[in-house]
Amino acid sequence: MLSFLARAKNDSKLNIISPGQRSRRKIAQQRACYHECKMASNVPIHTADKRTDLLGKSPDELRAFVQALGETAYRGAQIYHALYAEKRFDFATMSNLPARLRDVLSREAAIEMPRIVRRHRSEDGTVRYVLALGPGAAAPGEVQAAKPATIEAVFMPEENRQTICISTQAGCAVDCHFCLTATLGLIRNLTAGEIIGQVLVAIDDHRNVLKPQTNVVLMGQGEPLLNFEPVMAALRILLDPNGMAISPKLVTLSTSGIVPGIDRLAKEKIRPKLAISLNASSDAQRDEIMPINRKYPIAELQDACRRYPLRPWEHLTFEYVLLGGFNDSIEDARRIVKLLADLRVKVNLIPWNPGELPYAKPDSARIEAFRKTLVDRGTHAFVRYSRGQDVMAACGQLALMEMGGRPPNLAQISMK
Ligand code: SF4
Repeated sequence: MLSFLARAKNDSKLNIISPGQRSRRKIAQQRACYHECKMASNVPIHTADKRTDLLGKSPDELRAFVQALGETAYRGAQIYHALYAEKRFDFATMSNLPARLRDVLSREAAIEMPRIVRRHRSEDGTVRYVLALGPGAAAPGEVQAAKPATIEAVFMPEENRQTICISTQAGCAVDCHFCLTATLGLIRNLTAGEIIGQVLVAIDDHRNVLKPQTNVVLMGQGEPLLNFEPVMAALRILLDPNGMAISPKLVTLSTSGIVPGIDRLAKEKIRPKLAISLNASSDAQRDEIMPINRKYPIAELQDACRRYPLRPWEHLTFEYVLLGGFNDSIEDARRIVKLLADLRVKVNLIPWNPGELPYAKPDSARIEAFRKTLVDRGTHAFVRYSRGQDVMAACGQLALMEMGGRPPNLAQISMK
């Protein structure tokens, strides 16, 4: 691992691509290509029956839709209520609508939920879903419909609540080196309906065992701030007291540090909590594992965080994956304290899950020493372990498995 990182460091200084990096990119390209071909043949493509998918539409859009059918506008609000407050996904069961309108809707409209391809159940109760997304409608201004894709969502039950982790893109273009999703490349952006649909599918699948509180984290496949509008449209429904009515305190968007996206989110009236995936204590170190840092280095990220208008109850969350022997020293911890000194933050330390990527699990004494260094210097820090480790906890792992086999052993590839 160390020689892999050392070589990456030298290469980044010289701005050249090593044979190892070329192999990794080639495999990612081949897999993305294979993914598209396999998905195109395996996932049933919805017939072009011209029905309008209502999932993900705002109350205004639903009002406009029913008015175009010759109905009064408030029927749109009734559909919105049935869909998100009552969680009815079949027009026939929307008893707040007249039978005549239910008939019209079944001919003219659809509610296209993500389709569960597979459930992986963990011993700790976590359920990891592989979800198929249909081809979908063409986006405004685009001629072609969105291509089919496979994504992941995770349901994590706890004593008094459940947390649902959702994807915002199929694949991802950001290329964090510790992330298996990165090896897929970006397949496509998800629509608002496909994003909110993941929450609805997971809730519906646990209808009889739901706890009173639901948390949602946007930490699955994709960089949410690079699919801004659909993500915000889904969040508005999620956070709307007349929609899914989840408190903004219970919804977290996690970014790799897209500075213009953070500034844009700061201007939104309705927004979730913000988490930033930091994972390094210096630019040199972050450049090695998160190439996005070359575009938005740590100082720019700090400035964006200083500008971000925190609500009185709010703090920023920094996620820090502890990669054994790479970013888990006491010196790293001290640098983190300095970087975050003038921000209202908490730090989630996530020990690396040993798997197919070339990093080591940090030992428990080092994890505790790291946490203590932060806490002793006044930085709130918590150690978080990934849930569902027996059903492949790494982001992107299930999607790679769906592509027909084991994820690539990048340790071997990059050492060639
Ligand atoms: Fe994309 Fe997130 Fe993976 Fe980075 S960690 S490559 S942002 S999915």
